[in-house]
Amino acid sequence: MSIHTVQYKGIELEFELIRKDVKYINLRVNKHGNVVVSASKKVPFPIIKEFVESKSLWIITHLAEIEKIRQNLPPCGFCNGKTLYYLGNPYCLVISNGPSKIQIQGDKIFMFSTSTTTNALHSEYLSWLKEQANIKFEEILQQIYPLVEPYGILQPTIQIRNMKTLWGSCTTEGNTIRLNLQLMKASQDCIEQVILHELVHFRYKNHGEGFYTLLSLLMPDWKARKNKLESNFKDGV
Ligand SMILES: [Zn+2]
Repeated sequence: MSIHTVQYKGIELEFELIRKDVKYINLRVNKHGNVVVSASKKVPFPIIKEFVESKSLWIITHLAEIEKIRQNLPPCGFCNGKTLYYLGNPYCLVISNGPSKIQIQGDKIFMFSTSTTTNALHSEYLSWLKEQANIKFEEILQQIYPLVEPYGILQPTIQIRNMKTLWGSCTTEGNTIRLNLQLMKASQDCIEQVILHELVHFRYKNHGEGFYTLLSLLMPDWKARKNKLESNFKDGV
């Protein structure tokens, strides 16, 4: 394989040339936006160059389309090989075609799906994550709640939202705590800290002295857990 360029109205177009046993000359633009030309060894290079030049407009149109698709992809690039965090550990995403199923094995998250677009795969993954979060967050609430029960705090219900910035919030009227789906990426000690923080808000609405005194009493290392959460486990999906 060798790399060459042609000019089209001042635009430089790069192409890869592969000499192989094809009939004459084949030209394609691959999904990464590379122009790949395969040509028979018998075709002299100037003829190949002329051929690519004659296809310039077609190439430019195709490259523009690929760029457009790229820009519509979620910024995360949810694709094979992507590192995903799950309960504090990194996993490598492996996507295969097949009936919908996601399973964790070793250090990999195997995703089977019949979807072909990144957006569809991504939303399938998020709904799976939410199912896991429903179970996990409830389980952690059951473990943490006994700490605050003696302070007359009622056991709230959990709502899960996929949020950009906030880890959690609570509504005292509805007796609900809202947790960020992204917390599923974090280790259990960090999730515990967020849940306890929200539970303590049922007694102290604001971040006053009383709030932090009770939080520190119930979880002396809350700050270390919070710092750990802020600086880890972000995978952007
Ligand atoms: Zn707060």
